[in-house]
Amino acid sequence: MIVHLKKDIGSARAAQIGEEIKGFVIEDTDKFVVITSSSKKELESKYDNDVIEKFIFNDDMQLSSKKYLNAVREIKIGNVTIGGNSKNTIVIAGPCSVESEEQIQQSSKLLKELGLTTLRGGCYKPRTSPYSFQGLGLEGLKLLKKMKDEHGLTIITEVRDATHVDEVIEYSDVIQIGAKSMYDHGILKACAKTKKPVLIKRGFGTTLQEFVQCAEFVLSGGNPNVILCERGIRTFETKTRFTLDLCGVAYLKEHTCLPVVLDPSHAMGYAYGIPDLTRACVAMGVDGLLIEVHPDPSVAKSDASQQLDHDAFKNLLKTLDPVAKAVGYQIV
Ligand code: PEP
Ligand code: MN
Repeated sequence: MIVHLKKDIGSARAAQIGEEIKGFVIEDTDKFVVITSSSKKELESKYDNDVIEKFIFNDDMQLSSKKYLNAVREIKIGNVTIGGNSKNTIVIAGPCSVESEEQIQQSSKLLKELGLTTLRGGCYKPRTSPYSFQGLGLEGLKLLKKMKDEHGLTIITEVRDATHVDEVIEYSDVIQIGAKSMYDHGILKACAKTKKPVLIKRGFGTTLQEFVQCAEFVLSGGNPNVILCERGIRTFETKTRFTLDLCGVAYLKEHTCLPVVLDPSHAMGYAYGIPDLTRACVAMGVDGLLIEVHPDPSVAKSDASQQLDHDAFKNLLKTLDPVAKAVGYQIV
C-alpha cells in the first residue's frame, strides 16, 4: 500500500506513522509518501486526518506501477530527457570495458561526431571467469571523468559490488547495476540514497516480477530515477548468447511507469545480429538503447564478439530514425 500524507503534519509525525504502519517514508515536495508491503490493505481510521489518499496493490509492484503513476517517469540523462512526454529514444554507446585512454578517447570522439551525448564503459567488470580482464577500476573511472570534462559527455558505468558503489556513484552520471549484481542489496540501498539515475539490468534468470521488485528497493529508498534495462534472458537456445525478451518489454511498458532501455548487444552476443535486433528494439517504442561499440572489436578485452566497429555503428545509426518515427519516437 502507498499512502500520501499531508505535508503540514511535519516530518516527525510522518516518521511516527511510518514506524507504526511499518512503512518506508519518502519526503516529497508537497507530501510524504509511505510505502508498506502490498499485503497491508487497511489503514486505521486514527490516521484519517493525516492522509490525502491511499493506493492498494495486489503485489509488490507499487511505486513502479502504472496503477500508481499512469505515465512514464521523466528522467534526465545529462541534458537529455527520457520518459515523461519526451518520446525520446536515447542511444547510449561505448565499449564494454574502458581499456586505455587511447581507446576511450576514440569512443568519445565517435559519439561526438555522431551527435550522441552518453558514453558507457565498464570499469568494474562482473566477469564469468576470474582469469579474464576484470576492468581498470578507479583508473577507468578517472578516464571516464576525463572524457566528461573534455567532451561534455554524460557518463554511465557499472557497479559490480557494494565495495565500490560509492566510488561509482561519485564518478558517474548514471549508475548501471549489472545483470549479475541486481540482487545485491548493498548496491540497491546505496543507489536509493542518491538521486542520480540508476539503470538496472535484468538478471538473465530473473522474472519480470523479481526485476521490478529490485527497482522497488531503489524507489522505496527515495530515488525515483530508476530505468529498467532488458538485456536478454537465458532460454534453451544456445546459438545466440541470450534471448531478448521483447514480450517482457511490452509487459513493462504496459504495467510499469519506469523508462525502459534495451540492450541488443548482450542479448545477441554476436555483432552480425545487432543491426536487425536494434531496429526491432527501436520499433518497440522504448526510452533508450545500450549498444556496445569498440574501435577494434577483435582486440577488445571483454565481449569482443558482440561489439560493433565504428563503421558498423555509424551505418546502424543512420537506419534508426525512420523506425523510431514510425512508432512516434525520435532518436537522440
Ligand atoms: C555490460 O553491460 O557490459 C555487462 C556486463 O552486461 P550485463 O550485466 O547485462 O551482463
Ligand atoms: Mn559487455
